[in-house]
Amino acid sequence: MKPASRLVHPPRPAAQPTATVNPLIQKGSTVLLPDARALYDDDAFVTYGRSGLASHEALKSALCDLERAEAVELYPSGVAAVAGALLAVLEAGDELLMTDTAYKPTRRFCDRTLARFGVSTRYYDPTLPPDEVEALMGPRTRLIFLESPGSLSFEMQDVPALATIARRRRILSLIDNTWGAGHVLKPLDLGVDISIQALTKYVGGHSDSFMGSAATRDPDIAARLKAGVTDLGWSVAAEDAYAMLRGMRTLDVRLRRHEATGLALASWLEARPEVLQVLHPALSGAPGHDLWKRDYSGACGLFALILKPAQAGATAAFLDALRVFGLGFSWGGFESLAIDCDPQLEVRQFRRDYGGALVRLHAGLEDAEDLIADLEAGLEAWRPLAV
Ligand SMILES: *Cc1c(COP(=O)(O)O)cnc(C)c1O
Repeated sequence: MKPASRLVHPPRPAAQPTATVNPLIQKGSTVLLPDARALYDDDAFVTYGRSGLASHEALKSALCDLERAEAVELYPSGVAAVAGALLAVLEAGDELLMTDTAYKPTRRFCDRTLARFGVSTRYYDPTLPPDEVEALMGPRTRLIFLESPGSLSFEMQDVPALATIARRRRILSLIDNTWGAGHVLKPLDLGVDISIQALTKYVGGHSDSFMGSAATRDPDIAARLKAGVTDLGWSVAAEDAYAMLRGMRTLDVRLRRHEATGLALASWLEARPEVLQVLHPALSGAPGHDLWKRDYSGACGLFALILKPAQAGATAAFLDALRVFGLGFSWGGFESLAIDCDPQLEVRQFRRDYGGALVRLHAGLEDAEDLIADLEAGLEAWRPLAV
C-alpha cells in the first residue's frame, strides 16, 4: 500500500492482548466483524462500539455481582439512569408514585419531562406506614419510586414491605440506592424490581467522573432497560467505565472509613448544645434506625444535622467558617463536604418543620479529629447568632 493508506491500515497486533488483572480501555466506534454474515448478527457479535466494549462489559459483570442482578445497564450519569429506567418501563397514561424526598433532579425530570409524555407523578410522604402508601395506589399506578434514606432529610422507608405490596398489586418498584452504593443495601434481595445508583458517588469515589446504573433480575425489565439505552443513544466512555471499575476495588474499605468517620462526627454533634438533632439512620436512637439495622449491613458517610433556631445568616456563618469541609453539592468522593439544605426543601409537597436549619454533611476520608475541629470552628461562628 501507498504511505497514506499505510497510515490508515498499519499492521495490527495479534488478536489476544496480554492478560492483565484489569480490562482493556478499549476505545472504538467501529467494530470490525469477521465476515459478511456477522454484519447483521447482533445476537452473536458486538457490531458497534456504543456499548459492549471491554471495560463496559467488565464493569457490567462486576455491577451484576454487586447488585446480585441478572442484568445491568450503564448510563452517562445518575440522573440519566433515573430518566432512562423510568422512560423504559412507563407509558403514556401511567401514574408514577414518587417519594416526596427524592433527589431534586429526579423530581424535575418527572414534573417537566415525563409529564409532557403523559405520565403523571403523585408524591407521597415517605413517613407514611406502608399500608397508607398502598392506599394511594390507583388503577393507573404503574411504578413506585423509593429513595431510602430520603435525600437531604434521611427518612427511612420500609423497603421490603413496599416492594411486597407493589409486587402483589402488579406495580413495579424502583429504588435510588446511591446511599447504599449497591453494597450496604441489596434492594433486589428485598424484592425491589429495579435498583439504580449514581456510580458518580461512592462507586467512582474520586469526584471525577459521571455514571449511573440500573440493575434488575427480571428478564422483561432487563430487555426494556436495554432497549431504552439503545433507543436513547446513550454511551459511556471506556475510560469512565474503567474508572468506575477501579473505584469498585476499594468500595468496601472506603465505605467502612466513611461510615466510621460519619458516625464519629454524628455522635460528637449529637452531644453539642448548638445541635437540635442529628439525622443519621445508623446512629442509635436516630429516626429510622430500626429499619436501617434490619435491612442494611453498613452505612456511608452522608447525613444531616439540624441546628437550633438562630438569626438569619447563622447557617452561612457556620458553613463559611469551615476550612476542611468544602462547600459543594456532590458526595461519595474522598473529600468532606457541607451544604445548607433549606433552599432545596421548598419544592416538597409534604414539608416538615425541622425546628431549625438543616445542614447536610459528607464525611470524607480525612482524619476525624480534623473534621471535628473544623465543625467546632463552624459552631463557634454560629453561636453568637443563636436565639
Ligand atoms: C447525585 C445523585 C444522583 C445523580 O447522579 P449524577 O451522576 O450526578 O447525575 C441521583 N440520585 C442521588 C440520590 C444522588 O445523590
